[in-house]
Amino acid sequence: QAKKAGGNGFAFYAAEMSALARENLNLENQLRHALDNGEFILHYQPQHDLQTNAIVGVEALIRWNRPGQGMIAPLKFIPVAEMSGLIVPIGDWVMQEACRQAQDWQSRGAEPIGVSVNVSARQFKDPTLVSKIAQCLESTGLDPHLLELELTESIVMEDPVNSAARLKQIRDLGVTISIDDFGTGYSSLSYLRQFPIDILKIDRSFVRDVHIDTHNAAIVTAILAMAGQLQIGVVAEGIETAEQQEFLARHGCGIGQGYYFNKPVTAAECEKLFERRPARAIPFSVVKSA
Ligand code: C2E
Ligand code: MG
Ligand code: MG
Ligand code: MG
Repeated sequence: QAKKAGGNGFAFYAAEMSALARENLNLENQLRHALDNGEFILHYQPQHDLQTNAIVGVEALIRWNRPGQGMIAPLKFIPVAEMSGLIVPIGDWVMQEACRQAQDWQSRGAEPIGVSVNVSARQFKDPTLVSKIAQCLESTGLDPHLLELELTESIVMEDPVNSAARLKQIRDLGVTISIDDFGTGYSSLSYLRQFPIDILKIDRSFVRDVHIDTHNAAIVTAILAMAGQLQIGVVAEGIETAEQQEFLARHGCGIGQGYYFNKPVTAAECEKLFERRPARAIPFSVVKSA
């Protein structure tokens, strides 16, 4: 009886798997052409000084304008890009495009606006990563202090020895390093001392209900206190309400991003938001290293 059920279960599972595998293969084939066809676009989500509300930076977030299917969110294709290795050329494009856009804003008179780029595990392992970053900065003319790379704890902890060396090389270029989704990994906090990290981005799961959930409040205030002691900047992700914004500002969080301020928008829409910001905006690198 059990054996029979198991057999049926397996057959069902195998059919499901092959449907998923087929879909992924199809996705992979289309992803292969997407770069050449110019189907990727970067949207930008402003990062705000929580005291003044001024925009001090933007996070670049990729979208795929898939033919016949509209705008596809990164979580729908980044995993397949990662598995197939296509994330490396896609990530190279993101880096180049983000630097180009940030320099374009600069050259047209915007106050210094930092741009933050998400780096995947495969990309971080790419032995040519550091020279590619240097090349992007060189070819676009972007001030290295205006570029920030976002890595997760699990990416840097996979190979701590090599990560430390790699991060130092990136830091030596003048580029800012931040830990994305901070608090969701399982790693020891001691890596914060070993690695040259400038910013912790508090994951939005802790920001949600921070003003009413005492556990989330405790975690967030502990991160803020620790970061303060270690002289690491903090960015809160996923701020959706005035209550969250107020809590974070009151507890000394420097910077925040989230739907409460702005959703990710196109470069052109983002530019309009810069024009509205108060004149006393503080440059990204100054705020973030304060
Ligand atoms: P992430 O780096 O943690 O980016 C933040 C995500 O939260 C973005 O989703 C953003 O749109 C969303 N978000 C921002 N504010 C709010 C808010 O107030 N509420 C809620 N519910 N969500 C908010 P998105 O753009 O779908 O990106 C998802 C993830 O995909 C990113 O998470 C990042 O890990 C990855 N990703 C995006 N762009 C790239 C890229 O160029 N390269 C790589 N390797 N990964 C990327
Ligand atoms: Mg990010
Ligand atoms: Mg991320
Ligand atoms: Mg995040």
